[in-house]
Amino acid sequence: SKLVKGLAKTRNSIANGIDAIFSGFSNIDEDFYEELEETLIMADLGIKTTDAILENLRAKVKEQKIKEPAQCRELLINSMIEQMAVGETAYEFENRKSIVLIMGVNGVGKTTTVGKLAGQLKAQGKKVIVAAADTFRAAAIEQLTEWANRANVEIIAHKEGSDPAAVIFDAVTAFKARNADVLICDTAGRLHNKKNLMEELRKINRIIDRECPDVYRETLVVLDGTTGQNALAQAKEFNEVANLTGIVITKLDGTAKGGIAIAIQSELNIPVKYIGIGEHIEDLQKFNASDFVNALFQ
Ligand code: GDP
Repeated sequence: SKLVKGLAKTRNSIANGIDAIFSGFSNIDEDFYEELEETLIMADLGIKTTDAILENLRAKVKEQKIKEPAQCRELLINSMIEQMAVGETAYEFENRKSIVLIMGVNGVGKTTTVGKLAGQLKAQGKKVIVAAADTFRAAAIEQLTEWANRANVEIIAHKEGSDPAAVIFDAVTAFKARNADVLICDTAGRLHNKKNLMEELRKINRIIDRECPDVYRETLVVLDGTTGQNALAQAKEFNEVANLTGIVITKLDGTAKGGIAIAIQSELNIPVKYIGIGEHIEDLQKFNASDFVNALFQ
């Protein structure tokens, strides 16, 4: 499948290493667990998540009186999936009037994600509007305009450097006037100035609260999967300034660090809702822990 193909690099780093351990050891001993630990950490699962997974594995091995390393493969896969359990992931914005705020620092794939999501929702027959509220970067406005034209959805944009809150005000006004289903806002993500970012978000949320008090709101942060543990640190910082309802991890097709998706969902307890495995519209895929881990161990 496309997912299996997209995750090829991470699969090489995780599954091949792990399978070599399963076939290389004849006993389940401390060395065996140490090698597993090293491999998982190398694949960017992080120490905390790796330790939790291995603790779970040890308990399963003991309980089921497993003696052969090879028999641990399925148990390890299950431990990874269990470690990511955050309950059923809801995509409420697909089923009700919604305003989706998308945040993320420059270059992570934020604008592309807004474009892909707009295109997918439009293809589902929804009336979609996008707002170019990341007014900091001129290219972001142009890029989003291109995506909007391609997807044939309306875009609300002002010129570079204008007040993001003014764009949001125009966007929610259009959202109401056109009786649209979903408004997707490309918002800023200047983490180096947290105070400004918080102030900007507060302004944006205040406008939406006032103009559209009953509309469901989704706040997603976009993270670049190729940055591994850095992406996890970014997610934590964004979560401090915004009430995140979900995470998008992009560029998983270009990295061996895809284990970061497991670490992020496990450590933050915020659902990863989408992953990006390429540059086309259909390359933004809904994330499912079980499908993801199984694709890594194909
Ligand atoms: P922004 O600055 O966060 O808005 O980032 P952009 O949306 O401009 O994306 C930066 C680059 O990453 C662009 O060249 C995108 O095509 C690329 N990109 C975004 N998502 C993905 C993905 O899932 N896979 C790959 N391979 N490239 C991606």
